[in-house]
Amino acid sequence: MLEKAKKIVSACRCGCHHSIQTSVLEVGDGATDHLISYIKDSFDSGTALLVCDSNTAKYADRVITSLGCRHFVLPGNAHANETETARLSAHMKELGDISVMIACGSGSVHDIVRYCAHERSVPFVSYPTAASVDGFVSGVAAMTMYGQKLTYPSSSPVALFAEPSVFCDAPPRLTASGVGDMIGKFTSLFDWQVSNIITGEALCTDIFGMTKEALDDIIAASNLMRGDSGSTRDFTVLVMKGLLLSGLAMQLAGNSRPASGSEHHMSHFWEMHVINEPTDALHGEKVGVGTCYMLPYIKANAEIVDKELIIDECKTFDRRVLDPVFGAMTDGIIKEGLPGGKGTSALAGLGRDSLLKNAEKLHALIDSLPSAESVRKVLGRVGGCTELEDIALPGDERFARESLIYSPFVRNRLTFSKIISSISVTQGGLLK
Ligand SMILES: [Zn+2]
Ligand SMILES: [Zn+2]
Repeated sequence: MLEKAKKIVSACRCGCHHSIQTSVLEVGDGATDHLISYIKDSFDSGTALLVCDSNTAKYADRVITSLGCRHFVLPGNAHANETETARLSAHMKELGDISVMIACGSGSVHDIVRYCAHERSVPFVSYPTAASVDGFVSGVAAMTMYGQKLTYPSSSPVALFAEPSVFCDAPPRLTASGVGDMIGKFTSLFDWQVSNIITGEALCTDIFGMTKEALDDIIAASNLMRGDSGSTRDFTVLVMKGLLLSGLAMQLAGNSRPASGSEHHMSHFWEMHVINEPTDALHGEKVGVGTCYMLPYIKANAEIVDKELIIDECKTFDRRVLDPVFGAMTDGIIKEGLPGGKGTSALAGLGRDSLLKNAEKLHALIDSLPSAESVRKVLGRVGGCTELEDIALPGDERFARESLIYSPFVRNRLTFSKIISSISVTQGGLLK
C-alpha cells in the first residue's frame, strides 16, 4: 500500500506536488509488538504520550506498560472540539517535553491528537482500534470548533500500526460505519470530476485511481459478509486496508478533495445541529446516509447542465438566505463560503456556459453514478445505516430537502449540489 503511494510521489506527472509523511504502515498480526519496538528505536519512549479514550484504554495498557510512557485518557466518545483539544493541550504543557504522541482509538481520538500534535510540532503514531473512518493516515483534522464544522490542514502520522485482534474486536457498528465513509467516495469523486471539468481544478488521475480502488475493494469486501466470525474478521481487515488506501490518497493530495464531497457536507451540516438535535450517529453512518440521499438528488437535477448557468456568489452567501437556517453560525458560514469577498468562493469563475459547454461529459458522469438502491444494498449487507431515521434524524421529506439544499454552505468546496443551491438562491431568492 505504502509502495503504491511512494510510486505516485516519485512518478506522478500530473503537475501537482505530492508528498508522504507516513514512513511505516503495517496491518497484520504482531503490529502491536512492532509499534512498541518502533517507538523504542525511534524516540525516547519515556517522554512519549499515548492518548486513548475510556473505550480504548484496554488496548493501550500493553503499550503503556512496555514503553513505560505517559498516557492521557479522553472521555468515551469524545468529540474533536475546542474543549477536548484545550484539555489535551493543557496536559501537554504540564508534561513539558514530549518526544512522540500515540493515538490509540478511532476517528475522534486521532483528530484530537493530530490537532494538538500539529500545534506543538510533535510527531504522532497511529494505533487504530476500529475500521471506522478513512482519516487515520490523512493530513487533515476534521474538527467541530464552537459548533462549526471546520477542516484544518494538519499532520499525518509518521507511522501506523493496525493489529487485527484489536480493530476486529470493535463493535460491528464501527466497521459498518467505515463502509459508510467509503461509500461516500461515489459522490466525492464525482464532485471532484465535475469541478475538474468545469473549472479546471487539478485532478490527479493516480490519486483518483487510488481512491476508486479503495472504494471497489470495500464493495468487494462487503460480499464476504456471511455472518460467521471468520468472514467477519476477513471483511474487517479488508475494510481497514481500504480505509487506509483512501487516507493515503488524501495525504498525497494534501487535502480531503478525493474523499470528501457533498455527502460529507451533509454529515457536517447535521453535526452543526442547526436544524436537528444532536445525534449519537457515527461519522461514517452519517456519510453513508448522506450518500443515499445525495445520489437521487443529483440525478433529479441533471437537467441543470443543459441550461445557461445563472448564479451570483454574493447573493448565494447573503445573510438573509443563510440566517434563517444557520442563526448564530451565519457569520462563520459566510466567512467559510466567501472568505475574501467577491471572487473568493468556490463558485467564482463559473460562467454562463460552464455547464452547457460540458453538458455531454457531465451527463455521462451523472449517468455513471450508482443508484441509491444499489448503495443501500451494500450498506444493508454490512448492517450499515441507510435512512435518516436510522441515525435518529427526522425522516420527513422537508428535513431531507433542507439538508440537501443547505449542506453545501458548510464548506468552501465546489460540488454539484452547491451549484444547484446557488441556482436556487440566485433565481428564486430565499430557499424553501
Ligand atoms: Zn469521512
Ligand atoms: Zn499526481
